[in-house]
Amino acid sequence: MEFSSKLIEKAVNEMSQLPGIGKRTALRLVLHLLKQPKEQTAFLSQALLNMREDIKFCESCHNISDTQICEICANVLRTHETICVVEDIRDVMAIENTGQFKGIYHVLGGKISPIEGVGPNQLNISSLVEKAKSGKVTEIIFALSSTMEGDTTNFYIYKQIAELEITVSTIARGISVGDELEYADEVTLGRSILHRVPFEKTFKNN
Ligand SMILES: [Zn+2]
Repeated sequence: MEFSSKLIEKAVNEMSQLPGIGKRTALRLVLHLLKQPKEQTAFLSQALLNMREDIKFCESCHNISDTQICEICANVLRTHETICVVEDIRDVMAIENTGQFKGIYHVLGGKISPIEGVGPNQLNISSLVEKAKSGKVTEIIFALSSTMEGDTTNFYIYKQIAELEITVSTIARGISVGDELEYADEVTLGRSILHRVPFEKTFKNN
């Protein structure tokens, strides 16, 4: 793509670094911003800068948060004995939208994936195991997508907590669309949380 302006070229190049944004789309977005009042670009830039600068991770569940302890963990009305294990904030949002889960979360930050070079140590697994061993937790619910990576991760965690006096369950796998929680409809997802199944049952018959 040839540009008549270096300034436009630079903006397009930066914009096209984002996932799903090709050069053409980037150019369309940049030209759109040019047509808008200058403040619009300032608001956008500032929002992105603030987000990047001020965002925190909850010290307890590792979810993205504006505060040191996220609103969910800080909520005394939630059941802190029940922990739902998810991959990232999108899963937390999807499950929260169902309104069916009153426990707290633990955000792993990914799944074990040898192909992508993600090992257990790069994920928030040890803090989960610590929590499980604290004696304050009665149930751990796995809500990772049912991919090979998801199953591997579940099993890796399960092996470390299987001996504890804790119920380990997994959300019912009625979810089909790409197996991604964020795309599951709220009713299905809500139902699958309420009708969770003992984790042992999901592999002992195999
Ligand atoms: Zn939290």
